[in-house]
Amino acid sequence: MISVCVRKRPLIHAECRRGDTDVVTTPGGECVIVHESKEAVDLTQYILQHKFYFDQVFGEESSNEEVYQRTAYPLVQHMLSGGKSTCFAYGQTGAGKTYTMLGLSPGKPGLYALAVRDIFAHLSTTYKYSSLLVYVSFFEIYCGQLYDLLDHRKRLFAREDGQKVVHISRLREVRVDSVSSLLEVISQGTAERTQGMSGVNPLSSRSHALLQIQLRDSNQQITGRMWFVDLAGSERASDAKKSDRQSRKEGAEINQSLLALKECIRSLDREESHTPFRQSKLTLVLKDSFVGDSMTCMIANISPGQSTTEHTLNTLRYGDR
Ligand code: ADP
Ligand code: MG
Repeated sequence: MISVCVRKRPLIHAECRRGDTDVVTTPGGECVIVHESKEAVDLTQYILQHKFYFDQVFGEESSNEEVYQRTAYPLVQHMLSGGKSTCFAYGQTGAGKTYTMLGLSPGKPGLYALAVRDIFAHLSTTYKYSSLLVYVSFFEIYCGQLYDLLDHRKRLFAREDGQKVVHISRLREVRVDSVSSLLEVISQGTAERTQGMSGVNPLSSRSHALLQIQLRDSNQQITGRMWFVDLAGSERASDAKKSDRQSRKEGAEINQSLLALKECIRSLDREESHTPFRQSKLTLVLKDSFVGDSMTCMIANISPGQSTTEHTLNTLRYGDR
């Protein structure tokens, strides 16, 4: 089962100061309209309206808690009953992916923390589950390579075994016993993630961050699994045409993985037997999420500003099925 949602963030101060205006409206809960300014041949200005429909649309008034309740919460329930769930944040850099996933502070939590809050609440209220353990791992995919964010960016390798199960060897898995210990682990990982930042181009916009939460029983058998994926900035996909070599390589990789992801989600939605997960590291690692009884949610984040209309339209077209 897959659902595709859109989240519009408010204009931020810096944008207002620059005189950017809000060109996105979200009437009702399923529709989003982009009001694009155009100039006709005779130089008159007109507005072109682009209307899109999604499973759910969240306007700038929606909090992380509300977005969580209506997107990730059902996925968490699915995981707690033994299933596999995956939640993606897609969108241009600055559109609100990290705000949605990570939140702003412990007082303003994002989806990661809200999910783990519910997982621990569930384990503590249900005797049958009280012996289950929660493990997390957190790594990044940059230019087709995996780096462990909980182990000093150690290189990791993903391989399919004879049974066609994908393993990530040497991935560090940390046991957490509370929401605060999870947040501690994530903030360590996030610090690793931003270290490679080079002024103009934060690394976080050029890599995918994957957080995995596993439930295991006392025999270490996995009894539930959930992924949260903070994807690379979708505008980076067009860097594939840039002149400098590194940007081109990064852009090509991101383009490839976002296209492969779209293909995999599409084939999941159509319940096709063949899923092209081998087309990128991202989809290979997530292979398990594209088969069988899994639930997936894609949150397409958009900026409201006129200056980013083109990227916003690209994001909505990507999410549109
Ligand atoms: P991304 O991870 O997609 O690059 P961020 O999550 O870092 O984008 O968001 C960019 C900026 O917008 C940050 O300053 C963030 O705090 C702010 N922001 C994003 N979403 C919201 C929101 N829903 N409400 C208020 N501010 C937001
Ligand atoms: Mg981010």
